[in-house]
Amino acid sequence: MRILLIEDDSMIGKAVREGLIRAGFAVDWVIDGRAAELSLSSGAYDLAILDLGLPKKDGMALLAWLRRLGNQLPVLIASARDTVQDRIAGLGAGADDYVLKPFDLDELVARVRAVLRRHAGSGTPLLTFGSLSLDPARRSVTLRGHPVELSAREFAVLEALMQRPGAVVSRRKLEEAVYSWGDEVGSNAVEVHLHYLRKKLGAAVIKNVRGVGYRVAEC
Ligand code: CA
Repeated sequence: MRILLIEDDSMIGKAVREGLIRAGFAVDWVIDGRAAELSLSSGAYDLAILDLGLPKKDGMALLAWLRRLGNQLPVLIASARDTVQDRIAGLGAGADDYVLKPFDLDELVARVRAVLRRHAGSGTPLLTFGSLSLDPARRSVTLRGHPVELSAREFAVLEALMQRPGAVVSRRKLEEAVYSWGDEVGSNAVEVHLHYLRKKLGAAVIKNVRGVGYRVAEC
């Protein structure tokens, strides 16, 4: 799951980015409204965390613009604007939740998951292939009905493979799914996650298509 973090305060941005990455999300962080507009136009995100007081384009204007385009991306406002009117305006403009600054990082992550879960209920389906099943919102995986414990990054790799079950996904695409902008990605980092995934799921579940990439196989 990829989150766009829109926050101009460098201390808050850094802390939130790190907290979300620890929780297993890939995070791209932009620091003004224009950059946010460009990133949102890419359609590459599962959720946005939106500060309201932003340079170049205010958060409320950004949200109104997004919804005017018919874009239903889940948006969680994180703002120090704390009046009831502010919150009503934010939710009325189409935000899915409103978190007041300062907030606790664990609470923010919990709210992010809750928003994603609600959205999952209204559309994003469980990803299943054969007897393997992955729930993006609950972040759980089962194989033949048994839960499988995965690390955050193993989960992200498997999720990327399960989005197009049976299709070959390049290593580059897998890296994009797992790592955020600016992460140092070791040359075999994705292979390491794949190695552990195969240990946990069975080697037959993830096939290496030499020189092309990887795919999940029906099991
Ligand atoms: Ca701000």
